[in-house]
Amino acid sequence: MKLKNAWYLNEEDHLIQGDLVIHQDQIAEFCNDLEELDCSHLLVLPGMVNAHFHGTSTITRGLFMDMPVAQWLNDTSQGQLQQRFINALNRCTEEEKIQLSLYEYISMLKQGVTTVFDCRLFQQDYQAKKRAGELCGIRLTLEADDPSLLEDRPLLKAALPLPEESSWSQDRCSQAQFWKQNHPQTIFKAHCMETDLAAEAIRSKGYQHTIEAYAQADLLDEHSVLIHNCKAPAEAIQLAAKRGARMINCPISNLKSQNGVSPLKMMLDQGIEIGLGTDWGRLQFMDVMKCEYLLLRDQHVLNPAQIVWKMATEWGARCCGWPETGLLKPGMQADLIFIRMDEPDFQPLISTPQFSDVLQNWVLDGRSEWIEHVMVAGQWKVKNRKVCVLNEAELVARQRQLMKKLISETLK
Ligand SMILES: [Zn+2]
Repeated sequence: MKLKNAWYLNEEDHLIQGDLVIHQDQIAEFCNDLEELDCSHLLVLPGMVNAHFHGTSTITRGLFMDMPVAQWLNDTSQGQLQQRFINALNRCTEEEKIQLSLYEYISMLKQGVTTVFDCRLFQQDYQAKKRAGELCGIRLTLEADDPSLLEDRPLLKAALPLPEESSWSQDRCSQAQFWKQNHPQTIFKAHCMETDLAAEAIRSKGYQHTIEAYAQADLLDEHSVLIHNCKAPAEAIQLAAKRGARMINCPISNLKSQNGVSPLKMMLDQGIEIGLGTDWGRLQFMDVMKCEYLLLRDQHVLNPAQIVWKMATEWGARCCGWPETGLLKPGMQADLIFIRMDEPDFQPLISTPQFSDVLQNWVLDGRSEWIEHVMVAGQWKVKNRKVCVLNEAELVARQRQLMKKLISETLK
């Protein structure tokens, strides 16, 4: 397929116009097929990557408000409501669980998120999430509990957990070492130094910080993805950088949980690739980009829009184990979003050899409503703002019904 007269960004982020070619699932140099799409009014960008998300957490929004993670599900009336809601969630049928994940994935696709790294919630719903991914065709990295679930499909990868601070033990480290030896290419993820409590937990085991603990256990390399790092000291970041580890930042979640702001400039100065995530209870990825942009400005990072865009695409893709996506060039996977350039609020789009405001306008002021089409691996997922892979009205109706049921079971 030829994307005729499309607008896209070159390596210096300057706007250029030309034909883009899609052959099967990839961006290509040439193709023989005659299918064409007029893209003369569209900006074509790589799809965005939500590198940290807890699937089905979005339906708990508000329930966990203003409560530190360590107090969740406690004996207060809020904690008891949380417990009852989670119990109701756990009683959902497999079909209902698939519905919950499918609703979230479709919402992300419509916003231009073409890859998501979905981590477990309270319990593991691996099979339901996998099925939801198959039904909508989003590119998916799923956290698995153990290597028996590892699989590599065209749009699905599994990742494994590293031991976390709160449950750190020699046994868990030995198990993770064993898994790593047998699956050296697999992504291993961990929440890392998210809270003061977590940082304290690892110090109580005799380490200075979590990254030292991982390094000593021989668990830290370029396949390690460390999420949050709000409390990471400079030595920890240097060590992570030396081992080639990647990090994921979830700025809205961190601020909302009062865990503060990660030392982003320090990470970037050390050459660490950072992905972005919505984390818990949120789906709005564009909000995360805006927040990250503002934090980078506050830390005096140069070219924040360009950096945020790398986090949202290329770096995020590598954090999720998909190095073949996140960039618009031949040979990469055709995961693309098509944005209407003539939206008045997207203007002025000015790009000269010395200056370009395109990424600035998209990262800081962009809105997902401007997205016209979304493609994953060469397949249309959203075309002319309509979901192609299922009946969206039915999906929303089923979601409404399921929410009603969960709320009534919680309040019964
Ligand atoms: Zn998380």
